[in-house]
Amino acid sequence: MAARGAPYLDELNPAQRQAVEALDGPVLMLAGAGTGKTKALTTRIVHLLNTGRARPNEILAVTFTNKAAREMKDRVGRLLGQQIEGMPWLGTFHSICVKLLRRHAELVGLKTNFTILDTDDQLRLLKQLVQAANIDDKRWPARMLLGIIDQWKNRCWTPDKVPAGEAGAYNNRGVELYAQYQTRLKELNAVDFGDLLVHVVTIFQTHDDVLEQYRRWFRYILVDEYQDTNVAQYMWLRLLAGGHKNICCVGDDDQSIYGWRGAEVGNILRFEKDFPGAQVVRLEQNYRSTPHILAAASGVIRGNEGRLGKELWTEAQEGEKVRLIGHWDGEEEARWIGEEIEAMQGGTRSMRPFGLDEIAILVRASHQMRAFEDRFLTIGLPYRVIGGPRFYERMEIRDAMAYFRTVVSPDDDLAFERIVNTPKRGLGDKAQQTIQRTAREYGVNLVEGARIAVEEKRLTGKGAAQLSFLVDNIARWGRMAGDKDVDHTELAGIILDESGYTEMWQNDKTPEAPGRLENLKELVNHLEEFENLQGFLEHVSLVMDNESDDGGQKVSIMTLHAAKGLEFPAVFLPGWEDGLFPSQRSMDESGLKGVEEERRLAYVGITRAEELCTISFAGNRRVFGQWQSQMPSRFIDELPEAHVEVLTPPGLYGGGYGAAGMGGTSTIENRVAEANVYNSPGWKRLQARRDHRPVSQPSETRHAVIDAQAVSAHTVGERVFHQKFGYGRIEAIEGDKLEIAFEKAGVKKVVAKFVMGADD
Ligand code: ATP
Ligand code: MG
Repeated sequence: MAARGAPYLDELNPAQRQAVEALDGPVLMLAGAGTGKTKALTTRIVHLLNTGRARPNEILAVTFTNKAAREMKDRVGRLLGQQIEGMPWLGTFHSICVKLLRRHAELVGLKTNFTILDTDDQLRLLKQLVQAANIDDKRWPARMLLGIIDQWKNRCWTPDKVPAGEAGAYNNRGVELYAQYQTRLKELNAVDFGDLLVHVVTIFQTHDDVLEQYRRWFRYILVDEYQDTNVAQYMWLRLLAGGHKNICCVGDDDQSIYGWRGAEVGNILRFEKDFPGAQVVRLEQNYRSTPHILAAASGVIRGNEGRLGKELWTEAQEGEKVRLIGHWDGEEEARWIGEEIEAMQGGTRSMRPFGLDEIAILVRASHQMRAFEDRFLTIGLPYRVIGGPRFYERMEIRDAMAYFRTVVSPDDDLAFERIVNTPKRGLGDKAQQTIQRTAREYGVNLVEGARIAVEEKRLTGKGAAQLSFLVDNIARWGRMAGDKDVDHTELAGIILDESGYTEMWQNDKTPEAPGRLENLKELVNHLEEFENLQGFLEHVSLVMDNESDDGGQKVSIMTLHAAKGLEFPAVFLPGWEDGLFPSQRSMDESGLKGVEEERRLAYVGITRAEELCTISFAGNRRVFGQWQSQMPSRFIDELPEAHVEVLTPPGLYGGGYGAAGMGGTSTIENRVAEANVYNSPGWKRLQARRDHRPVSQPSETRHAVIDAQAVSAHTVGERVFHQKFGYGRIEAIEGDKLEIAFEKAGVKKVVAKFVMGADD
């Protein structure tokens, strides 16, 4: 029976209720995915408010993302049956620490209106210090120092607390430069992201009165996703909870996925030691997923050593098995998923229809998104990217495209402005103004203006020399772009390398840098599908033009990291190949640690699915413009056979390859063999015949197979999409040439292999 006026308790099982009703003292809820940890945490907040234990401003509730914080606020409001007058202390670690630091900035030598630096600012500052210290920043890039300092801050080490064992860092100068950096930040009245926590912890450690004030103030503390806290966050929590010990943490050691950012899963395992007498609540019933999905997830995570080990069960109906399908390359995988999603909206005899809002695609690496975004834009399938920009909106992609634009059309001043000092060439605002003035004076574009400014010595010194080098390069790359014998994919690589852009990210030691480099590689890979740079740039402007946010339903695309805590009725998990997932870096690491974190990520991925989970892999991917054959992920071999259905085209919904199904093998042992089938030229030919549309293929087979097929595949009157000219209708067919009336570009004759069928 629920307490009077507390119907929300009726929605909980006994273990959850225990965690919700044990209002005083430390509580740890340690349980697997989908067992209702977040639900219990939210209900606990409601219960605290409803029983009058705490007012909204006396509850400190920490979540990991802004999205999660918003959702939690909404849920509390819904359960209470009224909108709460704001919970000022419900948010992310960083958002809460900003508020605290504004109140007590003077205690760490800052003013209340301190600014928060982004990575660019941080780096600029560090570069100045590195230069002043006469350090060769070719050998010891400032970005490396930035990465080191970030990690130290994650551990809450101020310069005086960095342990002796770290003295060798950054050529023995790390600690000294870290101290200088902190001094400089204070002079600038600025903090970086890591400082937000470190400063607040320092204040608490050095000012008992302040700490006491907040210990009284935050009468109840709640933390979601506790397994991903780093040392600084952990210390902060321990200090705050140290008095009353009313702290409730929920987490799952199997979902710890931020070790690379300094998170320590040990924090969760140490909870009972830190808070003696803690009530530990374990939840085992999963309310999210079907038995097949749960069994698949459990099968994979079992491969990790040193787990606490939890078994999950569910009352849900059996449902579909986890579906596994191999494709011959990444484009094919994207196309299949696109068509499957279109078909899913209609449902089948055995499956209900799914709305687009109910479907998510979770990728390991953000560069995988490119294939899906391109495909979905082409077929007009609405999607949103969560937790990050769309592929073509990413900083590194925009930078790279700005280089290509400058080379292809030197009059594109906006593009030139973007790249003139990226990477840094010693051309600050003043130098850039000089370039603009010169260009205006002579009535020429900025590239030309830059050339004249250097020639007339309006700019001098190191910046001028670098600028002159850049301008000469742009002219030379431009000539190469016009040369039929120069392959444009190669040229793109040359531009990014010779401009120093690739190197800028190679020297970058922030956690995001490897992902950015992979995105750049993916961009160069994709270029191969176009005739030249110009064609590619037009394609991008066309597809980007197509998008509009009408507030309608959309498929969600996000990384596995961003999907933490979320759930969707249908989930696609593409790219399960060794080297991609688990990532090459994790496989190269000595010991098992890296791969174990990847395996937890696989577990997070599968457990996001409620009803339908589809895992896929490709037999081939293009890496640096070269085709590489891929082995299916080791995690695929760990999926328990009884809960997996190996799909051969056509899929459950018939989205895919047309009528003929391929007689397929279906045991897990055969998967590797199957992948090799996918690699064989014979299989590819079979595919090409079955599929009426031209698709990307290794270049040696492309002409033989595709050209012949593509012609017969099209009919007069058919609506098609061309990578350069967009949508149009075929008016006539002559050999391998099609005459098409394009909606935007007018009537043109084009080669059939660059044309894809499109829906009416
Ligand atoms: P994760 O580890 O993935 O963050 P979680 O343990 O936080 O998962 P929740 O998101 O809280 O799990 O709950 C998963 C789903 O189960 C939600 O849709 C939630 O509404 C539902 N749920 C939780 N507890 C119950 C319950 N006692 N009865 C019915 N449904 C429940
Ligand atoms: Mg949760």
